[in-house]
Amino acid sequence: MIGYVCKYTPVEVLRAMGADPVLMEPSVNDFNLADTLLYPNICSYVKSVLEDAAGKDYEGFVLTSCCDSVRRLYDVLRARYPKKFLFMLDLPRFASDAAAGLYAGQIRKMMEAYAAFSGRQFDENVLREIMLCNSQYRHPEYEPNDPNVLRIALVGNRCSNGLRNLMQNCGVKIVADLTCAGAEREFSPPAEGEDLILNYTKQLLKQMPCLRMGDISARQRHIDEVVSQTDGVIYHTVKFCDIYSYEYSTLHRRISVPLLKIETDTTPQCAGQIRTRVEAFLESLAAAKGIKPVDEKQKQRGENSVTVVGIDSGSTSTNAVVMNEKKEILASGSIRTGAKTSVSAEKILNDVLKKAGIARTDVSMIVSTGYGRVSIPFADKSVTEISCHAKGARYFCPHVRTILDIGGQDSKAIRLSETGEVEDFVMNDKCAAGTGRFLEAMARTLELDISELGPVSLKSQETVEISSMCTVFAESEVISLIAQNKEKADIAKGVHRAIAGKACSLLSRVGGEPTYMMTGGVAKNQGVVQAVEEKLGAKLFLCKDPEIVGAVGAALFGLESFEKA
Ligand code: SF4
Ligand code: SF4
Repeated sequence: MIGYVCKYTPVEVLRAMGADPVLMEPSVNDFNLADTLLYPNICSYVKSVLEDAAGKDYEGFVLTSCCDSVRRLYDVLRARYPKKFLFMLDLPRFASDAAAGLYAGQIRKMMEAYAAFSGRQFDENVLREIMLCNSQYRHPEYEPNDPNVLRIALVGNRCSNGLRNLMQNCGVKIVADLTCAGAEREFSPPAEGEDLILNYTKQLLKQMPCLRMGDISARQRHIDEVVSQTDGVIYHTVKFCDIYSYEYSTLHRRISVPLLKIETDTTPQCAGQIRTRVEAFLESLAAAKGIKPVDEKQKQRGENSVTVVGIDSGSTSTNAVVMNEKKEILASGSIRTGAKTSVSAEKILNDVLKKAGIARTDVSMIVSTGYGRVSIPFADKSVTEISCHAKGARYFCPHVRTILDIGGQDSKAIRLSETGEVEDFVMNDKCAAGTGRFLEAMARTLELDISELGPVSLKSQETVEISSMCTVFAESEVISLIAQNKEKADIAKGVHRAIAGKACSLLSRVGGEPTYMMTGGVAKNQGVVQAVEEKLGAKLFLCKDPEIVGAVGAALFGLESFEKA
């Protein structure tokens, strides 16, 4: 098994030498080894490759001189694994004949080195056969458009199989994979008498140029043409990879199809948030394309009336509503989410059914949403909280265009079209800055109950600034303000102003416009509401029970299933 990282690696030549080249796109749990051997600012992809190299039995590695991160990876691999095969191909920046000649020379050197290392010889016929097979490749991006399937282009530097699988499980077709090693390779066999390696190298370099190559305008033209055939683009980039982050910002301005950026560090951290963002993006594209979700558990409408339950399983609270087919809320409830999501969901389900006087057997459908939506085994279907908050918000305020939802562990801003479809959304980063958890920590430090924080802050007389949004640093700031004998009311107001600043930056990133609505439990805190309204310069629409908005949306999705049946 020879690990490689780049689409310009002569994989077919390695196969023709009897090697087993494997693309390294690992997902790792930590960077314990990499953090001791590499500089902190090296991209997380390269760190994950080093972790992977240490954990598996690779025969060797073939790298290309892509960027400084990869060069440092080469240095570390050479020092750490002196007995393994290691070769760095000096990749040219152009695809001209001269560049191909130089690169063909590099590939020949690699072949010699591998033959000396392994004792295996290059079989010309095998390479010709591989090239002949790959000549049959058909470009999926130009296949006819199926109106019931979303066509997505995956662009960026890297993409783990986890993200590809998630998209495919959502039923979308990845029509183009324009990542570092995603695209299918296309070769045609050389004419009689042509130099095989030189011909192969020319074709290898003629792939769509990556950002490291010189001809960026050809890349832009290719991406623009491909994405114009799609319903949306998911742009994946790796933390600390500056060149691809730069491309995202230019692509964002250039293309008109919806674009979602996902940045990961190749660890499973924030997998839940990424799942929500991808699913919500795909749900909004499906709604725009008029695709009705295929719901295997969709129930047929019988003689009896329809009653649905929506359960919003958040990180802090679990909320539920029971709704009849006239869209009337028969009962609602909220409890604190315990250690086990499914147990809290079961409890709130029993509570609201009891309140509504309905037996479990009379429930037509249960729809889950929220952070824990996939962990509720008795739910008939799940929908992301983005789509559910959008639908629930329109239920309470039919003119709402922008929603601010501050939840226990994340905050989001959602922009809706005039007809209520999700046009765009942004979520805060993975930390607790600007969320309900942040408020809870601040209330604890001020020795207040969380319910007292809002009313106390309204008595503020003096402006106190909390400059840090990091929960840990903000806590230290609050402690030092207490030591300076500042009033609790002023500190609480400062905390709310800090949250409002974060919330308004989300609202401006999403391009928010009136009417604004705030949802989620934090909307019950008058201090936060006042601070956001002051900073935003606009009123927020609030409903009586802002924490149930997501559950209402889930119930409405349940009712829609029966309308379609
Ligand atoms: S950026 Fe280009 S050279 Fe670098 S790994 Fe990706 S495809 Fe290879
Ligand atoms: S992700 Fe970016 S920085 Fe990392 S190896 Fe690839 S091109 Fe280089």
